[in-house]
Amino acid sequence: MAQHVVILGNGIAGITAARHIRKRCAETRITVVSGETDHFFSRTALMYIYMGHMKYEHTKPYEDSFWAKNRIELRRGWVAKVDTAGKALVFDDGSTLAYDSLVLATGSASNKFGWPGQDLPGVQGLYSYQDLESMEANTKGIQRGVVIGGGLIGIETAEMLHSRDIPVTFLVREPSWMSNVFPAEESELINREIRQNGIDLRLGAELDRIEAGPDGRAAAVVTKDGETIPCGFVALTVGVHPNIGFLKESEIETDRGILVDDHLRTNIPDVYAAGDCVQLRQAAPGRRPVEAVWYTGRAMGQTLARTLTGEPTPYLQGRWFNSAKFFDLEWQIYGEAPATLPDGVATLCWQHAEKPLLIRINYRESDQVVTGFQVMGVRYRHDACHRWLEDGRTLRYVLENLGAANFDPEFYREYESEVVALYNSKFPEAPVQLKRRRGLTGWIRSLRAS
Ligand SMILES: Cc1cc2nc3c(=O)[nH]c(=O)nc-3n(C[C@H](O)[C@H](O)[C@H](O)COP(=O)(O)OP(=O)(O)OC[C@H]3O[C@@H](n4cnc5c(N)ncnc54)[C@H](O)[C@@H]3O)c2cc1C
Repeated sequence: MAQHVVILGNGIAGITAARHIRKRCAETRITVVSGETDHFFSRTALMYIYMGHMKYEHTKPYEDSFWAKNRIELRRGWVAKVDTAGKALVFDDGSTLAYDSLVLATGSASNKFGWPGQDLPGVQGLYSYQDLESMEANTKGIQRGVVIGGGLIGIETAEMLHSRDIPVTFLVREPSWMSNVFPAEESELINREIRQNGIDLRLGAELDRIEAGPDGRAAAVVTKDGETIPCGFVALTVGVHPNIGFLKESEIETDRGILVDDHLRTNIPDVYAAGDCVQLRQAAPGRRPVEAVWYTGRAMGQTLARTLTGEPTPYLQGRWFNSAKFFDLEWQIYGEAPATLPDGVATLCWQHAEKPLLIRINYRESDQVVTGFQVMGVRYRHDACHRWLEDGRTLRYVLENLGAANFDPEFYREYESEVVALYNSKFPEAPVQLKRRRGLTGWIRSLRAS
């Protein structure tokens, strides 16, 4: 009989595993379970539903008919526990689902740190589709929203409220937005972007408690400095943690997340894990054992599909990559661009004198090999940056060829010559010459010039 792979979680990790198992094997019976929604949707697009740019239907990358067509069974329901001895999921209504192999891909849950008032009506995190529905209800007719916690989800939540003309106070504990992750230049650039959008950004501000009004709903936030900020809605966006509460009584070993080896295997035979809920027993040098990002979930899902279809494959934490948009500011990172430079690593950081544009290239001082790129307000080509990092290219080589990284020179202004000029001003003894690209842009320019 065909083996039955049950995947708990219909996010990017679980769905990628399901799709790739089906691509590689026609026989395997696949069931995907989720309590959140019937179908896979793009979690990163949740904000656009609230902002009115998309409808929920648009966030589903596949037609609803895709799953039956590909014989991927879907089951909606919340799993209360995993019976590893009996090889079955146990749902909160007591029903069970047997598996031969199980993939746990249960994502993250929003953090709470025990603040007084954190469970009042009108206070919530933003992670799930249900959170989006609550936010819709909780923000009706409010005079002000307060966002607590300066991470990626925090800034998105501030932008969501702002898009509906709801005044926002944004409390960030750090002295500058995400200054624990971003170098000072990037962090300050984002502070300015947030403020220019009319957000009341409070840096170095900590939550003490949330107070209720006469109706029992959140009515004000009180900071550690004793300031009271009246509001009708409080978003707690103080990070996420692996969603593993339902595993408490199981034999599956957990720490911060579900502990897995290099093949994404848990300590229990035939039980694997992928995505945000995973904690790698052994992370790659310079990488974290829990990486709650979209691209990690996708890569893990793909890797696991190989293992589950007879080709045991280790999961390799590839080059770090991430991207997002902070209001109008696009951001991308390739490789390493930490808040503080490690010993032996130097940086070339160009910023536009007036506009919110930044291009950073980090490199090893010993041999000038490039270790990372960070760009803001400019979009660079993934393939170019990735290839240069993989090939161990030097700063000199990268600068000479920097034009190849420009995402779309037809639409994006080019700043490569300014980055090269910055380098040449620092190292005048061996100036770099930017190689001019031939192609449509060059051709149009030469036509214009003639
Ligand atoms: C607002 C927002 C914006 C984001 N923006 C970015 C971004 O710009 N870039 C980026 O890289 N990442 C971003 N992320 C993070 C990214 O969305 C996650 O890393 C990714 O979705 C995790 O995928 P996953 O498959 O591991 O888990 P999830 O997408 O969380 O899926 C887990 C699924 O498992 C189900 N489940 C869990 N427990 C149970 C249970 N007991 N019973 C039944 N079902 C269960 C859940 O309901 C859920 O459907 C963002 C996240 C949010 C919330």
